Amino acid sequence: MSVTGGKPAPNRSKVKKLPTVIEARCKGCGYCIQFCPKDVLAFSDKFNAKGYYVPVTALPEACTGCGMCEMVCPDFAIYLVEDPAAAADVPVKVKAAEESKS
Ligand code: SF4
Ligand code: SF4
Repeated sequence: MSVTGGKPAPNRSKVKKLPTVIEARCKGCGYCIQFCPKDVLAFSDKFNAKGYYVPVTALPEACTGCGMCEMVCPDFAIYLVEDPAAAADVPVKVKAAEESKS
């Protein structure tokens, strides 16, 4: 007997995930842009408190959710979320937490 009571388990792979950047952590190295196989990411004209230009999701429809951008970021500054709009306040919270340490 299955743990879902006979119902098929939800297929999580069908949930579209998109990258979001924790701007306060980003150092603008561009690895995520360079290694994205679908050219989804690009530098924005916006820079963070450290003075680095941060990436944006320029072509969200092309993202396959492969996770390469997450894997190559040396600062754990980019990650995939189901709803980037809902995660929009995450950079603010992280920045506040990082500033409170200093
Ligand atoms: S998950 Fe993959 S396709 Fe999507 S932005 Fe990251 S590297 Fe590109
Ligand atoms: S790899 Fe990470 S630190 Fe480098 S530009 Fe992308 S998000 Fe920023």
